[in-house]
Amino acid sequence: MYDGVEKVLRQHGLQVTAQRLAIMRAVSSRPHATADALTEDVRAIIGSISRQAVYDALGVLVDKNLVRRIQPAGSAARYEDRVGDNHHHLVCRGCGAMFDIDCAVGAAPCLTADNDHGFEIDQAEVIYWGRCPSCRKVAAASDTGNAAIRSGPSGKSKRRGTTGPSQV
Ligand SMILES: [Zn+2]
Ligand SMILES: [Zn+2]
Repeated sequence: MYDGVEKVLRQHGLQVTAQRLAIMRAVSSRPHATADALTEDVRAIIGSISRQAVYDALGVLVDKNLVRRIQPAGSAARYEDRVGDNHHHLVCRGCGAMFDIDCAVGAAPCLTADNDHGFEIDQAEVIYWGRCPSCRKVAAASDTGNAAIRSGPSGKSKRRGTTGPSQV
């Protein structure tokens, strides 16, 4: 699939650069990653690249519709190369894990707004929120009153029951 990436870039009028190829590769091997995570992946592929350069390149790829940006409320933007099929996303409130939802029922489901306000609507973005199985397990464990700190990175001085990032 990577073989086609150069061609796709050219077809969209983009110069083929090592940076863009590496970013496309990183996005396709880790769907729904943040720009920060992608920066690390890209560095592993081509060596040093600034975070800003990755952000800029992602912006160009999003503009050209080669990469899709998903922006869940209160979270960093995520990127994926599954574009053009209007699929939706399921996000865990606990750990931020994100899954694709095909929403495959019927024709163009979720596209029908009850009032289109005169727009020509061509896309719907739905984000489902909830808790993933492992976060539910953690929540169930702490509900028993046995709030042992399992994997908190800084479980030394503060014991506050929850596993979220501790605040000051
Ligand atoms: Zn979770
Ligand atoms: Zn997706």
